[in-house]
Amino acid sequence: MFDLKGKVAIITGSTKGIGKAIAIQLCKAGAKVVISSRKHQECVKFSKELIEKGFSAFSIPCHVGKKNEIKNLVQETIKKFNSIDILVSNAATNPAFGPLSNLQDPAFDKIIDVNLKSSIWLINEASPYLKKNKTSSVIIMSSISAFIGTKDIGAYGISKAAEVSLVKHLAVELGSYGIRVNAIAPGLIKTDFSKAIWNNKKTLTKQIETTPLKRIGYPEDISGIVHFLASNASLFITGQLIVADGGETITSVIS
Ligand code: NAP
Repeated sequence: MFDLKGKVAIITGSTKGIGKAIAIQLCKAGAKVVISSRKHQECVKFSKELIEKGFSAFSIPCHVGKKNEIKNLVQETIKKFNSIDILVSNAATNPAFGPLSNLQDPAFDKIIDVNLKSSIWLINEASPYLKKNKTSSVIIMSSISAFIGTKDIGAYGISKAAEVSLVKHLAVELGSYGIRVNAIAPGLIKTDFSKAIWNNKKTLTKQIETTPLKRIGYPEDISGIVHFLASNASLFITGQLIVADGGETITSVIS
């Protein structure tokens, strides 16, 4: 049920952090993976490492905020592997830190392009190929910032909330082709992306104290969920959001 042998997976933003852990996990399950990020050298380096370990990997650099690069990502994947079964839309950005009252249009546009429109571009480009395989799976990396209020990352949170809506619409649109579309909302995961939070001792201590599982997350806390959603173990799940946050969002001040 969990075997991904022969399946082809594109993972955006897969040279480090959560995306890298996903690539390793999907390789271990037997998938052929396409490693992708903006930096060509990083993509080549990581895919070489995977190949040296006996896995099947290929690198295609792609800035997900650029539609032509997304088109190239899909077309080069087809040239190399002749199929796409699993799409993981993982890359994201957050150039705006501060209240929405200070949000500048260029930063907001960038957030929406990279975090939201990119997923639609990628799925539309790949859907003719996903439709050929009756058990294809699309996974979009959202965040718990989609459904909580914050003072500093509102624009990012809005883009992540829109992704939750996106999976529901796409799940309906693509369901008759057997394509599942789901999202994951990680809590705080120890990567470069969130370094400003976990690198601050006071914030980290508070975070751990208020999280029921009494720890922050690691990329491997997310990669197993992607494996599940990519596999036939989740064939009847679509349009859903899986929250993986150690319980952070279910607590209250009285607990
Ligand atoms: P990360 O460690 O900073 O890794 C980000 C990856 O994406 C890198 O491979 C990076 O490589 C690539 N990337 C960045 N901008 C890109 C772009 N425009 N186009 C293509 N690739 C790009 O980040 P992460 O923490 O793993 O985050 C992955 C996902 O999890 C994001 O969607 C994020 O919103 C979500 N998330 C993270 C946390 C957390 O606490 N870490 C919590 C909730 C949700 P290059 O720099 O070479 O492009």
